[in-house]
Amino acid sequence: MILRVRFHGRGGQGAKTASRILGSAAFGGGYNAQDFPIYGAERRGAPVAAFTRFSDSEITERGFIFSPDVVAVMDDSLVADPLANPFAGLRKGGLAIVNTTRPAAEANGGRDDVTVITLDLTKRALETLGKAVLSAGIAAAVARSAGIDAEAFVGGLVDELKEVGLSDDVVSKNVALAGAVYDELKPVELRTEELPAKAELVPLAAVVSGDGSEDIVNVGNSASRHTGNWRVTEPVIDYQKCTDCMICYAYCPESAMSVGADGRIAIDYDNCKGCMICQAECPLRAIGSIMEDRR
Ligand code: SF4
Ligand code: SF4
Repeated sequence: MILRVRFHGRGGQGAKTASRILGSAAFGGGYNAQDFPIYGAERRGAPVAAFTRFSDSEITERGFIFSPDVVAVMDDSLVADPLANPFAGLRKGGLAIVNTTRPAAEANGGRDDVTVITLDLTKRALETLGKAVLSAGIAAAVARSAGIDAEAFVGGLVDELKEVGLSDDVVSKNVALAGAVYDELKPVELRTEELPAKAELVPLAAVVSGDGSEDIVNVGNSASRHTGNWRVTEPVIDYQKCTDCMICYAYCPESAMSVGADGRIAIDYDNCKGCMICQAECPLRAIGSIMEDRR
């Protein structure tokens, strides 16, 4: 069994923390678990998403969850938001938990093939915490629905809230809020189906490079993907000034510098993307720049 949960919230509501609480609770309950948010331009109020997978066997899936078994929608206004689109990909027979004052039939995103539970978590958070931070409440709702036991849930909740630096008093208030939500709900029997695998795993060819690490050499990867055509500005080494100190080599993010047959530092222009970090870091100002001929 594997359960994939996608949290949708607005920046500041605690979607990322909710995914972490659920992941820690599941782990404490004996499952393998992953939790992670989408990192992007972080802005209070903007739609955000976070993910938790947990399973009683090894989890081999990675990356964003496009076909969740459960969606947790922390803000009613996201239900009809075409950019957030929280019901997108929710598996038939899955579960949606929505923070809203509306009944389930009005907050189901037009889906009549899934179970929808609605709760007014904002009101509870305002009454208990004095602000609309929903991580504990929504994590409790998902954990209870998914059948995670109470002790493991509280353990994960306390660990994660302490991790973000909350005081004992605020942690206690969150535990009380979450406990009330947890006790109010029952486990939900999900009947989601496994989707057919979209693609086979692709074996990647690798070679051991000079520094002992492995380079993936399939087309489109690593050295086979030339980033030189991203360049607008071209770094040029002035070998009269350069002492081959290798500082630019250490800073180059593309590993586009090497030591040539003559023992001197050299730039691999097939892969140099023109970021000019090398120029900024050279202590002797031995790297100049010319504009790339873009014709
Ligand atoms: S940092 Fe400057 S001096 Fe040092 S190797 Fe690079 S170009 Fe030469
Ligand atoms: S410009 Fe950037 S990518 Fe090119 S050699 Fe310098 S540090 Fe590396």
